[in-house]
Amino acid sequence: MTSHLSCRSVVIAALRLALVSAIFAAPAIAQAPDTALVNGKIVTLDAGSTVAEALAVRDGKIAAVGRSADIRSLAGPATRIIDLGGRTVIPGLIDSHMHAIRAALFYATEVNWIGTHSIPEAMGRIAAAARTARPGQWIIVAGGWTEQQFAEKRRPATAELLAAAPDHPIYIQLFYSAALLSPAGFKALNIAGDADVPPRGKIERDAGGNPTGWINGDNPTITALFDKLPLPTFDDSVTGTLQFFRELNRLGLTGVTDPGGFNLTAASYLPLFRVWQDHTLTVRVVFSLFAQRPGKEIEDYQALTQMLPMGFGDDMLRFNGIGENVTWGMYNNDSPTDAQKTQYYEAAKWAASRGMSLTQHWSNNVSVHHLLDVFDRVNRDIPIAGLRWSIAHLNDGSVENFQRMKALGVGWLMQDAMYFGGDALVRTRGAEVARHAPPIKTAMNIGVRIGGGTDAHRVMSYNPFVSLQWMIDGKTVAGTPTRDADELPSREEALRLYTQGSAWFARDDDKRGTLAAGRLADLAVLSKDFASVPTDEIGGIESLLTMVGGRIVYAAAPFAALEEKARK
Ligand SMILES: [Zn+2]
Repeated sequence: MTSHLSCRSVVIAALRLALVSAIFAAPAIAQAPDTALVNGKIVTLDAGSTVAEALAVRDGKIAAVGRSADIRSLAGPATRIIDLGGRTVIPGLIDSHMHAIRAALFYATEVNWIGTHSIPEAMGRIAAAARTARPGQWIIVAGGWTEQQFAEKRRPATAELLAAAPDHPIYIQLFYSAALLSPAGFKALNIAGDADVPPRGKIERDAGGNPTGWINGDNPTITALFDKLPLPTFDDSVTGTLQFFRELNRLGLTGVTDPGGFNLTAASYLPLFRVWQDHTLTVRVVFSLFAQRPGKEIEDYQALTQMLPMGFGDDMLRFNGIGENVTWGMYNNDSPTDAQKTQYYEAAKWAASRGMSLTQHWSNNVSVHHLLDVFDRVNRDIPIAGLRWSIAHLNDGSVENFQRMKALGVGWLMQDAMYFGGDALVRTRGAEVARHAPPIKTAMNIGVRIGGGTDAHRVMSYNPFVSLQWMIDGKTVAGTPTRDADELPSREEALRLYTQGSAWFARDDDKRGTLAAGRLADLAVLSKDFASVPTDEIGGIESLLTMVGGRIVYAAAPFAALEEKARK
């Protein structure tokens, strides 16, 4: 938000307050609010970019937004009044493409390296986990880090693992390209040579021919390797879901759109459903079905959705269609055959005929015309513009292809993959490509719907403020600026993508993403002022109080006492 916008905001806020005051005079608001937030800087993200002082909440929704004195005057004897002490409030953040359901399953039994800056710091987390783990229990870091984040700029080595946790089997995954196992880990998985490694994987050896502890491979290798690890118990997964979603709340997240993932069976969703039924869900989840069995995609969708129609659920948990793997033949395939395209067309047409959303993982602009051609074909049979379909990733998308998406009403799920990957992109494809990767402002100018997000947690940290900082400054984790200035959105634009932009894909843009009367009371009180903090401090912002549907699901000092434990 520039000072220009702020000035304009003040004027609009004044006009709006006059209007709100007039409404207060009427007897329409008879019931007192449950909660009143006063004396703050409330970034409403309404059409006029209003910044208000105060906000009232009743029955899970925002009842009024305005001046502190006016909001205080609404309070009854039971109203909880929270003095924000001038702090900034934003609409709850929504990650439009996070593998949150899967991350949650493992969160209680995994270690993460998110936010560590050196190998000793990362090893400290391994050592801490070893102190509380049972003998022989696996210690797992399932991605979400890169050697670029470490001062040493390298991968850790077996000797460092052994120093941190000598006796435990340890598994450290690096994206979907490699994994480091401790000697006890190799033993537990019965891997003695390359023949024991899943397809296309290879045990890395040093110049002397000795194994380094790393296994190199590709997505199927690493997925199969991970699949050999013991699964957490149901109770562990329920605990993990509660803990992971609270961790997301700590970072101001109140919603995710989940695109499934490899190896997620119907049973994988049961811990989430348990948390939802217990009314202990603290992040709104909309989810889609990711094809699991090659050749059986449509058959599986038909079976799974007989009792799961589009939109089934409620405002906390809702079914949102198919993807990001719709058919295996079109997943990470730059040259699909006619048969593969026809199979995709059948699946997509089936989804359209049921009014479903569809989201498709696609990496490369050079081949995305295959996908758009299929969408065109479906669109000729059944108009898809109202179905909120999307393409995820597409970091090198061209003007022409974004224009095709705009014409079809297909949105773009954009993540901060280049925060980790920007330096490598410059090396492999050159600075010219990286200057527009991803082309955030170009796509905004074309008018494509855009959701913010991370693609966490295997390939990226789930921290939305890190993603927002990267959107705004275009700098990688190593500090390299890669994107052109004209591809950098303003702070307010970035925030809009991460709130109302993302909400569109959940068909919730009329309920979430704006702090205005009648909207769901999802918000975060920030540790620093998003609008004025130095850009390189945005990534360090946390929430001090996160509210979902009027309930304070997370709170830290000075608000810590206000956190509401689960209501069963
Ligand atoms: Zn993807």
